[in-house]
Amino acid sequence: MSNSEDPRKRWRLRTRQVRGGLARTGMHETSEALFLTSGFVYGSPLEAEQSFDGTLNRMVYSRFSNPTVAMFEERLAAIEGAEACRATASGMAAVHAALMCQVNAGDRVVASRALFGSCQWILAELMPRFGIATEFVDGKDLAAWEAALSRPAKAVFVETPANPTLELIDLAAVADLAHRAGASLVVDNVFATPVFQSPLALGADVVVYSATKHIDGQGRCLGGAVLGSHAFCSDVLGPYLRNTGPVLSPFNAWVLLKGLETLDLRVERAAATAERIAGFLEGRPEVRRVLYPGLASHPQHDLARRQMRGYGTVMAFELEGGKKAAYDLLGGLATIDISNNLGDSKSLICHPWTTTHQRIPPAEKIAMGIGEGMLRLSVGLEDVDDLIEDLASAFGR
Ligand SMILES: *Cc1c(COP(=O)(O)O)cnc(C)c1O
Repeated sequence: MSNSEDPRKRWRLRTRQVRGGLARTGMHETSEALFLTSGFVYGSPLEAEQSFDGTLNRMVYSRFSNPTVAMFEERLAAIEGAEACRATASGMAAVHAALMCQVNAGDRVVASRALFGSCQWILAELMPRFGIATEFVDGKDLAAWEAALSRPAKAVFVETPANPTLELIDLAAVADLAHRAGASLVVDNVFATPVFQSPLALGADVVVYSATKHIDGQGRCLGGAVLGSHAFCSDVLGPYLRNTGPVLSPFNAWVLLKGLETLDLRVERAAATAERIAGFLEGRPEVRRVLYPGLASHPQHDLARRQMRGYGTVMAFELEGGKKAAYDLLGGLATIDISNNLGDSKSLICHPWTTTHQRIPPAEKIAMGIGEGMLRLSVGLEDVDDLIEDLASAFGR
């Protein structure tokens, strides 16, 4: 390796998390600068003209680009190993834009059935309004994917692990089937995080994040991101975002940039705690089953070992006593908070049936694998023994 080569190209993950995308101003600040500005000024009308026609490579308006947002995008792309990244105001703005920017009336989209409530709404309610046919398959079933993708499709959307059932999709196999059907594979990688799963390396075309979750990881702000090739981000997604405007605020981008610096430390610690809690829950007589990809009892544990580097910070568990038992357990907790958010430094628990997935008809919830006695636990950064004691005492009440 020659000394003249840019060392940034060789940086390992931890260095990319801290230094990726850093662009210092003439003030030589250590930390990333926060450019809380909507616009930019020009020294002359010619400079303005050339900024708009592309002769000059400079920023013109924060709906198009902003220096702090650009640092966040570059850093996340470096971490993910993606050619390009576009930030959005929320995870749902990212999912919406990643899908809608590439479909036309008459197109067909195939998705896994177990999805985050709002992702399911976009596919089941919104897209059909614009003449886009959507078909849902059991994401665990490769034969179902094969059947659905034996006809041409424009895009495939999956979440793996899925919220809240922790079901997995075989990304390499589905990417192959999607490509043969002419579709691009879009993966919602929120539960795995960039730390534990790299969908692009497994054949996916586009990755989306709710940066609200582990990327901020401290419950402060909403954000989202779409990652993919230069061509997709500039020519397909870029114009869609630029003209519809679901942009990330520079302030939130700054918070998320600082979140990225500690991403692997936080996620790995929470995942180690989650593994211990999953084992604890599995040993409780009140618990019918625990869904966590790191458990040998998870029906797709082998797939998890193959395509993930770790098993994440979120689990679901089903109580023997149904909704009443779930409510009693929630009512007995003193440390873990009841909240529908996830990926926070604080451990959060919710009852998907009546909250995140309330709007979905009961029969569909059952088909998705969500029961009335199911709870979803997002493990945070507290001491593992305090969390286990909290659960144990809530069971005892
Ligand atoms: C939270 C979440 C989203 C939506 O993200 P927001 O930032 O809340 O808009 C999408 N997908 C998954 C899997 C999520 O957990």
